[in-house]
Amino acid sequence: MIKVTRNEAEEAVKTLLAYIGEDQNREGLLDTPRRVVESFSEHFAGYLQNPEDILSTTFAEVEGYNEIILLKNIGFSSHCEHHMSPIIGHATIAYFPDKRIVGISKLARIVDVFAKRLQIQEKMTSQIAGVINEILMPKGVAVIIEATHHCMVTRGIKKDNTMLKTSTMMGCFRDDINLRKELFNLIRG
Ligand SMILES: [Zn+2]
Repeated sequence: MIKVTRNEAEEAVKTLLAYIGEDQNREGLLDTPRRVVESFSEHFAGYLQNPEDILSTTFAEVEGYNEIILLKNIGFSSHCEHHMSPIIGHATIAYFPDKRIVGISKLARIVDVFAKRLQIQEKMTSQIAGVINEILMPKGVAVIIEATHHCMVTRGIKKDNTMLKTSTMMGCFRDDINLRKELFNLIRG
């Protein structure tokens, strides 16, 4: 991977402004390259974060808790890797703990680690499930994501109100139909 300086990144934004037919030197645009590059550090902060670190603090003491843990409607914004257009949606994460549970804010942070990268929704869904499965070693994990893709809503075929829904089921949620039913009842309830 080549190393790009901040200055070079701002110059690239200026090039794009000229490409779309703008006068890159007009007053309203003078600070735009800096602002765009700054917003990139927020939109793509996930490249600097390691999901395993976030999940490494767990509680072994679960007081015999032996049920599904579900966190619903975790809002996120991401960008698609094909157009760098926004993907706006929410994720639902469930896991059936075995020995370890994790603070609920950590589940929300895991979504952001993967959302704040260039993504495709299918990949993001399985990445979240995969890392929870690997680190917490639960009996099962389920991740469901619903999102609107701006590359589809604002350009191309311009279909508004379309939502892409993806899910990954692992372990007991994949193998045990009754648990999967219970999961969907909890999500609806
Ligand atoms: Zn796209």
